[in-house]
Amino acid sequence: MLFLDFANTCREIEKISSRLAMTDLLAEVFPQISDEELDIFVRFARGKLFPDWSAEKLNFGPSLLYEALAYVIGKKREDVVRAINSSGDAGEVVEELLQKKQQTTFFTEDLELTDVYERFMQMAKSSGRKSQQERLRSAQYLFSNASPLEGRYLARLMLEEMRIGVGEGVVKDAVAKAFGVPSEVVEHAHQALNDLGEVALLAKTNPEKLAEVTITPFKPVKMMLAQAGSITGMVETHGTLAAENKYDGSRFQFHKSGGRCAIYSRRLEEMTASLPDVVEMLKNATTHDVIIDGEVIAILNGKPMPFQTVLRRIRRKHGIEEAKEEIELRPCVFDILVCDGETLIDLPFTKRREILESVMTEYVAPQLVSDSAEEIEKYYHEALDAGNEGIMLKVINAPYLPGNRGKLWIKIKPEVDTIDLVVTGAEWGEGKRAKVFGSFVLACQDESGELLEISRVATGIDDAMLAHLYELFKDKIISEKGKSVTFEPDVIFEVGYAELQRSTNYEAGYALRFPRFVRLRDDKDVSEIETMESLSRRYSMQNKEE
Ligand code: AMP
Repeated sequence: MLFLDFANTCREIEKISSRLAMTDLLAEVFPQISDEELDIFVRFARGKLFPDWSAEKLNFGPSLLYEALAYVIGKKREDVVRAINSSGDAGEVVEELLQKKQQTTFFTEDLELTDVYERFMQMAKSSGRKSQQERLRSAQYLFSNASPLEGRYLARLMLEEMRIGVGEGVVKDAVAKAFGVPSEVVEHAHQALNDLGEVALLAKTNPEKLAEVTITPFKPVKMMLAQAGSITGMVETHGTLAAENKYDGSRFQFHKSGGRCAIYSRRLEEMTASLPDVVEMLKNATTHDVIIDGEVIAILNGKPMPFQTVLRRIRRKHGIEEAKEEIELRPCVFDILVCDGETLIDLPFTKRREILESVMTEYVAPQLVSDSAEEIEKYYHEALDAGNEGIMLKVINAPYLPGNRGKLWIKIKPEVDTIDLVVTGAEWGEGKRAKVFGSFVLACQDESGELLEISRVATGIDDAMLAHLYELFKDKIISEKGKSVTFEPDVIFEVGYAELQRSTNYEAGYALRFPRFVRLRDDKDVSEIETMESLSRRYSMQNKEE
């Protein structure tokens, strides 16, 4: 299949606004795609290059894109930057720029969909001193052989911003419709495989297998997440609940199978090399092949240390042995997803917990099972006194829903007034801070993942953190105008605030009163920042309480 055919389909989808019509179109197209190309097509349509379980990254930001394009169209980098900044849509600008160039070029090669994928794979795999140069050359190759329309979607793919409105839901519905499979089966397979490309391929080639797919060792699944809520609300709705400490550490998923072990972060990146001690502890705590879910915490004199300490260990690439001596880590395991090849996620939590306790000799997180709000309240205060962030309340008959942030897990912590936002820009500081960024622009997201500005934050950041943030952001600058800079949006801040207000000053329609920086959330990615839906919930909760 030509990449141009993919681009044409995207163009058609982009013109459609109805979700149903989009689903119908994809359902018609999917069966016509060959087995070798279907998984790639499905991922690309969502703006994903690799399976969701894979930690593979293209490592190709806007800055390289500008450079590659400038080379291909024979213009200066600044001209490309200016054009993209004034439009805000890289895909559209690339299409226009290639249109102008097209009149002067004669020889190009047709791009196949699989060629494009292989190039992306090469770019992702490239490492070492020359990797930047190699990635640039691959991008130049792709853009020199792309027609304007192909360029539009190549650019968007490389920036992982497809903007054609195809989300997970649309793809799942289209797969169900295209291959006549019940949507619950597609849903189940997606939870276990964590790759819609593979789900689509299986639906096409072996639909009866879909219902039986199991979670595969060393292909991590998304972690189940929690919403904020209240103890009384949960007891009223569900009666008996399981309460656990909310550990202030870093989430992990541990896989053990056939003697091999691996540990993954919440972003599904492999951390095995930086956490050999934790891997060893978990490996020795069970004789079974398992996939388990938990939080790793740092301990000093028997007390949990703040989350930042754990991150220091995880970030270490060298001197792991010394780091192991300095910072003692301990896993707290609270769920089990697979045991000896059997996928357990559809079982009720109490049953999974029973299995977890029977297969682990150590590290299982303690639990209180209770239907009394008073007793849970007491447990909550004990958790805080012991240095935890709060507690988690879990519905005891709930399945494990990978990637779901629903009402089945509720977090209770004192600071309900913090919010996770992505940093989209900054202003240079003043006076002695003139060489670092002084205030940061923050955004939340709407349902389609579009970023909307909501606040600026300058308070709560000490000089050491300002210096760290400068180092972190200096290579993420997309553009600069006067004192303002825009960044590639991939760093998350947790921000405290006194009140959420309606506001016309920011795109989100809300503003934060007295925003203050709390911490960096390197464990989260952009898809996990505050949504408009959750903001409106916060707003109504806040006003109800007044
Ligand atoms: P938050 O990061 O504030 O959205 O809270 C959810 C996070 O709390 C999870 O992703 C875990 O990393 C962490 N956590 C700590 N203790 C637990 C627990 N007992 N059960 C589930 N998640 C926990």
